[in-house]
Amino acid sequence: MPQATPEVKQRIEELRQLLQRASYAYYVLDNPVMEDAVYDQLYRELQELETQYPELVTPESPTQRVGEQPASQFSSVRHNIPLYSLENAFNIEEFAKWQERWQRYAPSQKEFAYVCELKIDGNALALTYENGVLVRGVTRGDGVTGEEITQNVRTIRSIPLRLHVDQPPDVVEVRGEAFLALDVFEQINQEREQAGEQLFANPRNSAAGTLRQLDSRVVASRRLDFFAYTLHLGSQQLEVAPPQSQWEALELLQKLGFPVNPHRQVCASLQEVQQYYESWDLQRRSLPYMTDGVVVKLNSLTLQEQLGSTQKFPRWAIALKYPAEEAPTRVEKITINVGRTGALTPLAHLQPVQLAGTTVQRATLHNSDFIAQLDVRVGDTVIVRKAGEIIPEVVRVLPELRPYGTQPFQMPRDCPVCHQPVVRPHGEAVTRCLNTSCPAILKGALTHWASRNALDINGLGEKIVEQLVDKRVVSSVADLYDLTLEQLASLERLGKKSAQNLLVAIANSQNQPWSRVLYGLGIRHIGSVNADILAQKFPTVELLAGASLAQIEGVYGIGPEIAQSVCSWFQVPSNQTLIARLKQARVQLSAQNLTTTEPSSQSLSSKTFVITGTLPTLKRDEAKQLIQKAGGKVTNTVSSKTDYLVVGEDAGSKLEKAQSLGISQLNQAQLLKLLAPRQGNNYPVEKG
Ligand code: NAD
Repeated sequence: MPQATPEVKQRIEELRQLLQRASYAYYVLDNPVMEDAVYDQLYRELQELETQYPELVTPESPTQRVGEQPASQFSSVRHNIPLYSLENAFNIEEFAKWQERWQRYAPSQKEFAYVCELKIDGNALALTYENGVLVRGVTRGDGVTGEEITQNVRTIRSIPLRLHVDQPPDVVEVRGEAFLALDVFEQINQEREQAGEQLFANPRNSAAGTLRQLDSRVVASRRLDFFAYTLHLGSQQLEVAPPQSQWEALELLQKLGFPVNPHRQVCASLQEVQQYYESWDLQRRSLPYMTDGVVVKLNSLTLQEQLGSTQKFPRWAIALKYPAEEAPTRVEKITINVGRTGALTPLAHLQPVQLAGTTVQRATLHNSDFIAQLDVRVGDTVIVRKAGEIIPEVVRVLPELRPYGTQPFQMPRDCPVCHQPVVRPHGEAVTRCLNTSCPAILKGALTHWASRNALDINGLGEKIVEQLVDKRVVSSVADLYDLTLEQLASLERLGKKSAQNLLVAIANSQNQPWSRVLYGLGIRHIGSVNADILAQKFPTVELLAGASLAQIEGVYGIGPEIAQSVCSWFQVPSNQTLIARLKQARVQLSAQNLTTTEPSSQSLSSKTFVITGTLPTLKRDEAKQLIQKAGGKVTNTVSSKTDYLVVGEDAGSKLEKAQSLGISQLNQAQLLKLLAPRQGNNYPVEKG
């Protein structure tokens, strides 16, 4: 067994204190101090440490208790049968482990089924009926003792005050979830806001707060609702057959007059449970109440009894919760990213954390104002959020977990890449590097140029761009069109074949329309939509560059800020040079219908080609056809009349002869490049 270090002991103590404080605020004050996901994560961390160091487990550790002591305003009632919490699983793998575990307790049980129910995010209640009449309503409390809130429970309209049977058993206990519908929750919070009161964090806390109101008229006005899910009959006889399964118990509860959630399902396998779990993840947001997972219970009541419970949980049920969209983690370092516009973006590097089904290791900190507002520091425990497709971001710092001796974060004065001083323009939140030859800006510009909505150059990813810039092979996007196969093939991670493919892809990009080129230039505020609009109104680069501010602003959909940005861009001498070079490189700087453009066969009609060796992707016939389509002639022998020798691998004597005659040689990529502007089509790029 490993020995606990002082750091581990300190962390355990820290976690316990924090969880205890949170638990009290949550259960007793109905006013949580942290998000549930944060609580769950910290709880898990403590649980894992306690598993690793069992000698450090103490009876008062939050992992050993359910809920909190009941508040004192109500009288305490001991539950006849403990009202347990549920074990949690956060994904289907954890569920599978739980399945293996219960099966170890019931090894003979080969045939079984589950009942899946939605996990309603409310408060568990135990309702006692004597001779068919509701006599007591008790909260879960700490699982052993709860608070008697019968007066309040009577105000919940969906809870029957009398069971719907003619001959009721002496005593029945029904358990279920009291909750507030989302619209009621929002309404309550609106009222509280108007009254200047503190808002409830979530429907569960507002339901808990409501149930604990001393004035039951207030409770009545709050429209609490209820779903029943457990029936305890003991060994009493009923006028109907007693249930043998959870499913039958739910049906009977309904007959007795209780609302039972309709979205229940019998699942005979782990796969079916998974389907139920996943399909409700998509649908649950359209429900009028909040669910934070599904509860999976073994259907057979005999099996439930056989399995029994641990100190805290029944062994026959588990809450399969949906992944959190917020979670706590620690900031390990903060680095600065310089984007293609020169903007400096601070980035938090995080201790990896599971969030909404993915591992999150980085989160944006936006800018210095954002950092200052949150006061995020290296070493801090922070809450990160990921919603939908949004990049994870830091929402909050937990100052109570801040280690000693941290320093507020300062934005650097110099660009971390080119080391030139940075500026923060007046009125802007962004700090920028203004050095146009800053390698970071250049890398960003190249990656943007190659991106899918711009020139769509397949294979020109960040790693390649990085090398091209760092090795000073490329210092402008126009340089891409002068790249040779040798230069590309010398890059790391780029084999000869991929280098050839990349060369072809670059050549193909010369066919991309003017609107994409305009977008690819990366002018501020010119996204692909604005680029489309402008390219249509100004069908050539000359027209756009020569347009006045008023003319650009006059285009429908283009605002003054965008117009100003375009005008300023074309006035910068280095941008004018770039346009001139792109023109030389035959990039499309005017709108033209490529598919109807006839190949300028004239220019190749007088040219004679010979092909030798094996070309990387084109068969010899295909190459021949392409040349002929462009107006060229292909012959078999090299002579003084040959204009170009197209050279592939294992070239033979033709190469020697061509060399002796001083004939120009082309590899496949160069051939395609020569043909590209003349052809209306793109050439196939080989995979691999
Ligand atoms: P739980 O909410 O994870 O699950 C058990 C509860 O689920 C049951 O007691 C019952 O009330 C409810 N439930 C809903 N539908 C059900 C169904 N169909 N069948 C059975 N039960 C159903 O566990 P818990 O012990 O009630 O609460 C622990 C949770 O409370 C933690 O996971 C944490 O998220 C939250 N908590 C948060 C803080 C905080 O500071 N934010 C503090 C303490 C606890």
